[in-house]
Amino acid sequence: MHDFLLAKEIVDEVLAVAKEKGLSKVEKVSVEIGLIAMAHDGHAEHTEDISVENLQFGISAIVKGTLLADAVFEIKKVAGEHWKLTSIDGE
Ligand SMILES: [Zn+2]
Repeated sequence: MHDFLLAKEIVDEVLAVAKEKGLSKVEKVSVEIGLIAMAHDGHAEHTEDISVENLQFGISAIVKGTLLADAVFEIKKVAGEHWKLTSIDGE
């Protein structure tokens, strides 16, 4: 479940940064993900280990029709309970 929620959060953040930088096309995005704590579906906040494969799948569905449609997402698993946008390349 966290994979889809996180995919949405990452895409929203990348779109906001791309807009801030005035990019019209994003080619590559690098993110680091740890265990992600979230509250959802009536559950209190808890952490979940996220599958990179599921996250990629969620992201590819969400970016359709946006300026991230052709972007390659490089996702690296890290320790900790956070995620971080490490780089965004485009023009
Ligand atoms: Zn959960």
